[in-house]
Amino acid sequence: MRKKIVAGNWKMNKTLEEGKVLASEVVNMAADEAPSDVTVIMGTPAIHLDAVGKLVKDSANVAVAAQDCSSHESGAYTGEISVSQINSVGAEYVILGHSERREYHNESNELLAAKTDIALAAGLKPIFCCGEALETREQGDDVAYKFVCDQLTASLFHLSAEVMTGFIIAYEPIWAIGTGRTASAEQAQLMHAEIRKHIAAKYGQEVADSVSILYGGSCKPSNANEIFAGADVDGGLIGGASLASRDFIDIVKAF
Ligand code: 13P
Repeated sequence: MRKKIVAGNWKMNKTLEEGKVLASEVVNMAADEAPSDVTVIMGTPAIHLDAVGKLVKDSANVAVAAQDCSSHESGAYTGEISVSQINSVGAEYVILGHSERREYHNESNELLAAKTDIALAAGLKPIFCCGEALETREQGDDVAYKFVCDQLTASLFHLSAEVMTGFIIAYEPIWAIGTGRTASAEQAQLMHAEIRKHIAAKYGQEVADSVSILYGGSCKPSNANEIFAGADVDGGLIGGASLASRDFIDIVKAF
């Protein structure tokens, strides 16, 4: 059966010292409290990956993710970070296609297809984000479903069934990110079911059933249990609430 995952996305928060304290707390609490079938991931700023990677090295259930990677292998790309550099500091995962990258850095579906390919080729596991803006949702649920499924088709559907098996997708409605406004548990489940149906139509039900679909957007200890109860909700991608170890681990325990 597919993996249950709770991943934190620290975004551009925490100094190195603060990040190390948070990561140590998460590792210790996860060892004591996390359900054994849940993978806990911390998506840290790139500059913290090495230090946090060392802190999680011996952990049985906590891993580290980069928040982005370059679509190029190496070379004259000032400020960019390559997949081999991410690999070299022990990160196992990479968040791709976050709406903040799409919006503020003009990341297109095509660019994200290239980033997905280069990450996979390097052995990194993408956490591939999708999600619609409020204007799209306001045009109707079906318009939102189609928008999100089109994002996935454009960036992922060139992949083989083998690569798609066990893939990780995060559905994050843009209108619920950092706004305190969560998608209802029902809205999340309905979108996740649409995503799984869309994957099944291309790759078959068995592959679709192996894909972990995480929900992200104002997820917190008080609502995680209800959201995670959805049959197609396999965990969360957590922003603000991943910056405090107690809140983050309480979300991990919400399954
Ligand atoms: P919040 O949990 O702060 O709404 O952020 C969600 C998110 O963007 C995670 O990637």
